[in-house]
Amino acid sequence: MTDLQPVRGTRDLIGEEHRRFQHVVETARRTAALYGFEEWATPVFEDTRVFARSLGDTSDVVSKEMYSFTDRGGESLTLRPENTAGICRALVSNGLTQTLPQKVFYAGPMFRYERPQKGRYRQFHQIGAELIGVAEPLADAEVIALGWDILSALGIASHTVLEINTLGDHASRAAYRAALVAHFGAHRDALSEDSRVRLERNPLRILDSKETADQPFVATAPTIGEHLTEGARAFHERLKDHLTRFAVPFIENPRIVRGLDYYVHTTFEFVTTSLGSQGTVMAGGRYDGLVEEMGGPPTPGVGWASGIERLSLLLAGPPALPRPVIVIPVGEAQEAAALPVLQELRRAGVRAEIGYRGNLKRRMEQANKRHARAAIILGEAELARGVAQLKDLTSGEQHEVPLSELAARLA
Ligand code: ATP
Ligand code: MG
Repeated sequence: MTDLQPVRGTRDLIGEEHRRFQHVVETARRTAALYGFEEWATPVFEDTRVFARSLGDTSDVVSKEMYSFTDRGGESLTLRPENTAGICRALVSNGLTQTLPQKVFYAGPMFRYERPQKGRYRQFHQIGAELIGVAEPLADAEVIALGWDILSALGIASHTVLEINTLGDHASRAAYRAALVAHFGAHRDALSEDSRVRLERNPLRILDSKETADQPFVATAPTIGEHLTEGARAFHERLKDHLTRFAVPFIENPRIVRGLDYYVHTTFEFVTTSLGSQGTVMAGGRYDGLVEEMGGPPTPGVGWASGIERLSLLLAGPPALPRPVIVIPVGEAQEAAALPVLQELRRAGVRAEIGYRGNLKRRMEQANKRHARAAIILGEAELARGVAQLKDLTSGEQHEVPLSELAARLA
């Protein structure tokens, strides 16, 4: 049993790494609450149809990356590769399609069978936001502003660039699709095998290809601009006005099409140059048909997801380890008196720990290892008088303090 390792593409989060992780989630949670988003948690696995229907069966995620299995009852289940489909499924299952808008925040693990690299794992974690039930571009602008604020609060907004695009409405997309088929069809034999399949089934996907063979044709592909309907163009213009008023800087990138099938109108990515080909830290768009796919009424929605591992990699310093106060009974006989002291501190909101064993010296070593800010030393003579020695471990100063005053002093 000695060489058991975590499964390829999974990681243990311990110490500093977990603190980075927590910092990202807590910062995002706090910021999302300021925008009125409420947190939901949906199951980690779902009926496979939840994803097969929504993501489109030609998407990379569905065709190559899903962890699907048949359970003992014969059901086909899938570990969620993303959470937007699950949130829309939950909206319908819980009868919330008449209680709109719903503003949802989530954080949790996702699973994709990918080639592991820095910033790309098989179990990874996302934070995400969905604003469901608002068809106006103000909703798009607001979720993007939320994303920007989270990146700002994490101190990484300045390392990222927001790139936006529009895929237009259904009519714009149909016209654009025809133009792409004409363009890529002329180079069919030079395209990668995957892109030849995409050409038949969803040519827009070719724009999202990571294959070297496709790149020259992607670079020269027509852009959607000239195929947008008046309505789609107006929608995009309003989004840009709103972003400007929200003071969110952006650039336009006509290549942002996103990997999944369900997007219309707005698509966007926050990208960084610091993480190689894992440069997209946050990505999303509008998905007006998705709730309907889940069996609900036609319902507009817009949102994004962001990889916590990638955000963590961009954080400047690890969040500081909070420094505890450590209670040190000088010997075993004083331990009994130490326990109520410890509990009183904790109830007063003081992070308090105990030096577990040994003589005073050994227990002080433990205090230093825990990077304690203060030690409360409980000796026999002091306890008899109802006092303790309070030692500030930064300055080294030491005072006698009545036991009853300790919590107030340290809180
Ligand atoms: P990529 O192009 O990097 O494969 P994607 O388009 O598949 O990303 P989305 O499905 O849009 O990614 O997921 C949103 C975000 O989740 C990504 O921008 C990224 O930050 C993160 N992410 C996606 N897949 C992984 C993974 N395997 N490991 C770590 N983070 C990931
Ligand atoms: Mg991917």
